[in-house]
Amino acid sequence: MSAPLFLIVEDNAINLELARDLLELEGFQVLSARDAVEGCRLARQCQPDLILMDISLPGMDGLAATRQLKGDPATAGIPVVALTAHAMRGDEPAALLAGCDGYLSKPINTRAFAGTLRAWLKPQTKSPQPSLVNTL
Ligand code: MN
Repeated sequence: MSAPLFLIVEDNAINLELARDLLELEGFQVLSARDAVEGCRLARQCQPDLILMDISLPGMDGLAATRQLKGDPATAGIPVVALTAHAMRGDEPAALLAGCDGYLSKPINTRAFAGTLRAWLKPQTKSPQPSLVNTL
């Protein structure tokens, strides 16, 4: 089974490289896009296991991109985690309203980042059923 594939949509080069490094260190595969149009195209084409979506992007923003992804049967099932920078401005509730499955606040917490994102991945294999033998 291949490593989970992440798509990072982020226009800020420093944030993008930090997120990429943290995910690659974890053994994940990483694709990236610097704007929403490219991000949506890559999502359809490559079917990542999770999309990390910056909200503030040039042109189409991350909220509009998420609505587009969630409205397209080809991409609706892919978890989208927003990367928000403006908690006080209401980006986090807006991200959930747009259809994001969750959000992470910037600045990125380097220690918790990959582990937190792992929790949003869909289970790739059925976990073994707990044995009932011991309870009978
Ligand atoms: Mn941005």
